[in-house]
Amino acid sequence: LLDRNGVPTPTIFARMSELAARTGAINLGQGFPDTDGPAVVLESAVDAIRSGANQYPPGRGVAPLRQAIARHQSRWYGMEPDPDTEILVTAGATEALTASIIALTEPGDEVVVLEPIYDSYSAAIEMAGAVRRTVRLEWPEYRLTAEALTAAVSGRTRLILLNTPHNPTGRVLDRAELDLVAAVARERGLIVVADEVYEHLTFAPHRHTPIATLPGMAERTVTISSAGKTFSVTGWKIGWLHAQRDIVDAITAVKQFLTYVNGSPFQPAVALGLGLPDDEIRAIGEDLGRRSTLLTEGLAAAGFGVRPSDGTYFVIADAAPLGYTDGAALCDDLPRLAGVVGVPVQAFSENPSVPSSLVRFACCKRPEVIAEAAGRLAGMR
Ligand code: PMP
Ligand code: GLN
Repeated sequence: LLDRNGVPTPTIFARMSELAARTGAINLGQGFPDTDGPAVVLESAVDAIRSGANQYPPGRGVAPLRQAIARHQSRWYGMEPDPDTEILVTAGATEALTASIIALTEPGDEVVVLEPIYDSYSAAIEMAGAVRRTVRLEWPEYRLTAEALTAAVSGRTRLILLNTPHNPTGRVLDRAELDLVAAVARERGLIVVADEVYEHLTFAPHRHTPIATLPGMAERTVTISSAGKTFSVTGWKIGWLHAQRDIVDAITAVKQFLTYVNGSPFQPAVALGLGLPDDEIRAIGEDLGRRSTLLTEGLAAAGFGVRPSDGTYFVIADAAPLGYTDGAALCDDLPRLAGVVGVPVQAFSENPSVPSSLVRFACCKRPEVIAEAAGRLAGMR
């Protein structure tokens, strides 16, 4: 978390956004949309501020939001959480993840994570005094295999930290992979912490299935999501989790001393968003899917090797066909070479110093911005 001089190391996303700001390059690095979410959702937050929702909300989140989350889980997935005891509103998915890991592990316990790894997982595991065990997903299929999973699980394993749709690979794990994780969790008595922030950002024919809906998994899963992605409001930091009562109680005990509460005027607005008609929510994913395709085609035309994503804000491209073997060096140079910023995939690695030619680009931008970036990258050859 700190460098040799005791200075906090900026996250790879902060560093790449700073590089884009400094150079004026198009920022396809950090994943945030360049347009804000549905107007009714934005207006609802403004109304909430005007009508006085500006003081501490209840510790577990305002009742209308917890009820809206419960209805959302029921409508989309057939799960029936009790809004009073089985749901907790958090400061983004980040806090839900960190509070879960702190609450559900003792120092020395092991947490299994998929690699490439989203950066906050490793930091949270370290802050909890737990130990990270990685399961590698291999480019370009990025499939979870039984061998890799069972090799990472030991007698000290407490949690499997799952992420699907997966950042940065853009994979939506399929039913066979989820069954694998569920079987291991049930056999070994493990809890699955499921980061599903991109649940609505999947592209047909891929569909998200919460692992909590698999047999025997409701009682051993913490399902985490966030309004930031679905409603393009990443700065609001309204996330939530859903699990059985004892688990939610344990995580609430941690959350109350991390942030206590958060985001009162945003909470009713997110409640409204979650209640939007299914078609409107589905259209958000379909729209993003068109942008993802535009970016994928643009990167392929520029000479990268590309794996089309199943979902998420991201597309991974291999720069090796263009003669670049070190993605980190390429990303540092990309503003000069092409006026574009991406994120090196090796930053998501257990050993970030091992070079990889893979670069993650964000597709959550206006189509004209994606087209311009792709054109610039094509000019690099
Ligand atoms: N998990 C994943 C996989 C993410 O990509 C992100 C944000 N980009 C988060 C968690 C954090 O979400 P939030 O901003 O709601 O804290
Ligand atoms: N999750 C975003 C990404 O992957 C970044 C969020 C952050 O910067 N912490 O780009």
